[in-house]
Amino acid sequence: MSRIESIPELYFASRWKYKAEGNVNIILTYVVQYNEIDSYALKLGTVLRLRKSAKNADTNDMVNKDAMNASLYVSTVIAPLLGEYVGESILLEVQPKFLREIANLIYSMRPAKRLHKDIDFTQRYAILISDHTIFDLGPNPSLSIELKPKWVFLPTSPHISPENSQKLRTCRFCMHQHYKLLNKSDERLSTVTEYCPLDLFSLVDERMNRSIKELLKFPGHTLKLFLRGEQLQVDKEGWQRELCKFFELDFSGDQEKTQDCNDVILDLLHMLLSTMFREEKNFLNRLKHLQSSLDELDIEGIYKYYVARRSNFSDPTIGEWKMVVDEYLRRIKDPRVSVGRDDDVSIRQRLYEFLISATLKDCSIMMTFKKSTEASGKIDSSSALFPQKTPKELLLSLQDFGKNVKDFEENSNRKRYLKDLYDKHSSYETSFNYKIFVIDLDPKLVSNIPHYHELDAKIVENYTKNCKTKKTCVE
Ligand SMILES: [Zn+2]
Repeated sequence: MSRIESIPELYFASRWKYKAEGNVNIILTYVVQYNEIDSYALKLGTVLRLRKSAKNADTNDMVNKDAMNASLYVSTVIAPLLGEYVGESILLEVQPKFLREIANLIYSMRPAKRLHKDIDFTQRYAILISDHTIFDLGPNPSLSIELKPKWVFLPTSPHISPENSQKLRTCRFCMHQHYKLLNKSDERLSTVTEYCPLDLFSLVDERMNRSIKELLKFPGHTLKLFLRGEQLQVDKEGWQRELCKFFELDFSGDQEKTQDCNDVILDLLHMLLSTMFREEKNFLNRLKHLQSSLDELDIEGIYKYYVARRSNFSDPTIGEWKMVVDEYLRRIKDPRVSVGRDDDVSIRQRLYEFLISATLKDCSIMMTFKKSTEASGKIDSSSALFPQKTPKELLLSLQDFGKNVKDFEENSNRKRYLKDLYDKHSSYETSFNYKIFVIDLDPKLVSNIPHYHELDAKIVENYTKNCKTKKTCVE
């Protein structure tokens, strides 16, 4: 359930620091400089999500309800599907005066390309959630990795037309990369990555390893990395070195081999991710199953029904969303329920299920790590406002990893050098705690359906016509 609160300590605009923003929201983090002399910052482990609006937009009553709607959607629709991977949120009542003060304070920190939209000063609620870029409020540095999984399945819908049959063989992510490159719609994208989400979600160790290796080749594309809550600038040379302290490695005697040391850090990141994903196969499987079973008809099937009965569809209320989820869970338990029916009720159900799938294709997975503090026997609180979840644990041993270098490196000279380096650090054996949360779970609107259909057609057409070597993605 979503709590609505008014918390006086949080209404000092100067205590909020700009963190990030997308097209729809601005994210702030709460920091109190309570000791001016050494600037020690007390963090609340909490971020505030404020909705943006077009600049000088008129007051719009619909916008006022958005934060509440988004928050209730997560607790009513997504939480029953993803369970423990969904975090809690608080709806914080906010006043226009506070919002204007925030807007003035953060203006100079915002990227120029985002300034055409300001904070929406008419919103009555903002959303407070845990800051998943930090593990807890304890002293050990935390590393957080954000992955946007996108589409992690291949469609099989009979509604897919013969001219779009490429969709049955090449996954949406891989085709979309080519479309983005053609349209230069993503400035970070200068080349197409070999990463395929179907490999990561295959649950086959070798394929998962390969996909992590590809992800780490271009970490700015699909991954974001945060150290101590700050995003790492992976386009800058030597960013890997910043992780030495996190992994507790000392490369001070290896300055001349900077590249190799950077590679060791990359290998450790690789090991950290692959160990964790192996532990979390059930979660990966659940997300994949949800995305595909909620989208059985594909946008081509959904669009046909949408066009034929357009006047019948409006955005569900929270009560209606709850019925959609309950019906979906019934159907998954007993597949004989509503098979092949195309009456109004079944079609509406499938259309709304499709929108839930769209939310899950657009989510982010936040994986946060820190060295475990079992010696102290206590768990530091992750946030002053939210209860602490028991963290999970994994063990990284460089000794074992050194033995397995052959799995990651074919070049024999480098392999020899790496083996020496790993031998030198062979006593490295560290336990890490980790947590996983899924965020960015906003409801999608029925009015998006024509856009989804158009974009799908453009992506497939571009790939079918312009891409000479067609990739075969395997589930
Ligand atoms: Zn693919």
